[in-house]
Amino acid sequence: MNEQPGNTPMFQISRLVKEFNSVPAVNDVTTQIDRGEVVFIVGPSGSGKSTFLRCLNLLEEPTSGEILFKGELVTSPRTDVNQFRRHVGMVFQHFNLFPHLTILENITIAPVKTGRSTRKEAVAQAETLLRRIGLYDKRNSYPLQLSGGQKQRIAIARALATNPKVLLCDEATSALDPNTTHAILTLIKDINKKLGITVVVITHQMSVVEDVCSHVAILDNGLSLIHI
Ligand code: ADP
Ligand code: MG
Repeated sequence: MNEQPGNTPMFQISRLVKEFNSVPAVNDVTTQIDRGEVVFIVGPSGSGKSTFLRCLNLLEEPTSGEILFKGELVTSPRTDVNQFRRHVGMVFQHFNLFPHLTILENITIAPVKTGRSTRKEAVAQAETLLRRIGLYDKRNSYPLQLSGGQKQRIAIARALATNPKVLLCDEATSALDPNTTHAILTLIKDINKKLGITVVVITHQMSVVEDVCSHVAILDNGLSLIHI
């Protein structure tokens, strides 16, 4: 990607609309996400949070509007979507780990299959990530043998295995108890601070963000972006 120099925002989103059967799920959102930020998106169920996040990753094609990634228009037919997505790691609501693969294999599959790393490099990086999240001893376990909070950590490690610049997390904590939620938020902040990765987290639990937010932007359609 021909990234723009300087400190152009990570994402500039203008007049973003995504309709399903002519009904808007995301309705005219204009905002920006700066490099190095942690941004929480809050809003009730059905308010378009997941759709907005999926548009950021080009998993949904916007109906209209523009998304610039580091100054470059990505909502364009000329965008190499696979190349763009390498910069944007995604953690899904239900973790989506492969049940038949070990934890180590879950983390190494993407960098090896895409040819970005040799198997040896991918394993070395996965082991570093597993140490960072405190689950190195689970590397040969299967997802079913892990708790919800542990699976969420593995899903985050897997999203980091391609060295993304941005991490998008859809309901990263909604299935977790309060203590585990706190631990995942601490991990997310650690990833942001130590690895310099921009993080966007969706939640419908206002309580999750109450103690960490310093800035709230209310969007036109009732979605809120909270920058911490
Ligand atoms: P949230 O994540 O805030 O709960 P969603 O983005 O999942 O909200 O959904 C917003 C609206 O878009 C909902 O009314 C939902 O039913 C609708 N929607 C989401 N995805 C699709 C889809 N693939 N096809 C049709 N409607 C959809
Ligand atoms: Mg959702």
